[in-house]
Amino acid sequence: MHHLLDPASPLAGRLAELGHSPWRAKAVRRWVFAGRASSFAEMTDLPKALRAVLEAEFRVWTTTIATHSTAEDGTEKLLLELHDRHRIECVLLRDGDRRTVCISSQVGCAMGCVFCASGLDGVVRNLSTAEIVEQLVRLARLLPPDERLSHVVVMGMGEPLANLDRLLPALAVAQDPEGFGISQRRITISTVGLPAAIDRLADLNPGYHLAVSLHAAADTLRTRLVPVNEAIGLEAVMEAADRYWEASGRRLTFEYVLLGGINDSPGDARDLVRLLAGRAALVNVIPYNAVAGLPWKEPTAASRDRFIDLLRASGVNVQVRRRKGARIDAACGQLRRLAAGRAAGATDP
Ligand code: SAH
Repeated sequence: MHHLLDPASPLAGRLAELGHSPWRAKAVRRWVFAGRASSFAEMTDLPKALRAVLEAEFRVWTTTIATHSTAEDGTEKLLLELHDRHRIECVLLRDGDRRTVCISSQVGCAMGCVFCASGLDGVVRNLSTAEIVEQLVRLARLLPPDERLSHVVVMGMGEPLANLDRLLPALAVAQDPEGFGISQRRITISTVGLPAAIDRLADLNPGYHLAVSLHAAADTLRTRLVPVNEAIGLEAVMEAADRYWEASGRRLTFEYVLLGGINDSPGDARDLVRLLAGRAALVNVIPYNAVAGLPWKEPTAASRDRFIDLLRASGVNVQVRRRKGARIDAACGQLRRLAAGRAAGATDP
């Protein structure tokens, strides 16, 4: 059984074998990308016999929707169950004209950032290209017919640069005018900062917007929050970021999750100013979204504002991520844990 949404599946070849134009493959997939069909039977411009063959040999969906939640601000979150019963999350965010999807790249995560729900149980496996594309398709179907996806952020579960080989073909579908037609500049890959993989992405395709998760601008603190930093070190991360910036010509984003009392002091802000001096960078400050069972706290409004003011006063470009979908636990890995807790009979997720 082949997956229709996998760009490498042999659909075009099979159509040719059956005496159809291989170009028809695009039209077949288009039905699904445009949200006009969810089965071959609904592809009414295809001969019936062809529909039956495709039905027997190709699968449209590899996932099922386990949960679909909607927040008051319009954020929608899907918990998808994969063929092997593992679960992943993806989110649709509405912000003005923007229709941004946040997608996962792995089941779980091996990076072990101490405040993040996704990595608490380690990584289970990489997602396939079809599973990544399917998140886009499933989320696009939540939009009314006159709306299109405008942005993609790979900021869900997993470390995208640890699964580049499957992610890049999926992002090519996001860009393809026959897919979702989203310009590459509107596609952000967020990484914990793996230098070799950043270099590889710069070689393969530096057109994506890269976001590097810093969370601390001094090695001791960063290693405490982002354990993989121990073997890598900030200097190597920043050098790789600089090389990506040279290759792409576009400003990078550095993400900084603010944890109350941990990395939000004036000294922490000054470390960050020093680290970014001379670099074309945007800092995306993300107030921590509390994860049940973890000891970290959200920053107070006062410490958050002080941190941001200090950066701005030193000329650093700062953006503060507004909280979206907090009530539906739209931070990576949270919904999956909630569901797992419920399944295990836990009362306090
Ligand atoms: N592995 C990639 C993608 C992770 S998710 C990376 O590390 O960048 C995207 C961002 O959300 C990362 O910066 C991550 O550290 C952050 N994040 C994880 N859990 C969070 C939480 N509970 N609250 C706020 N941000 C969180």
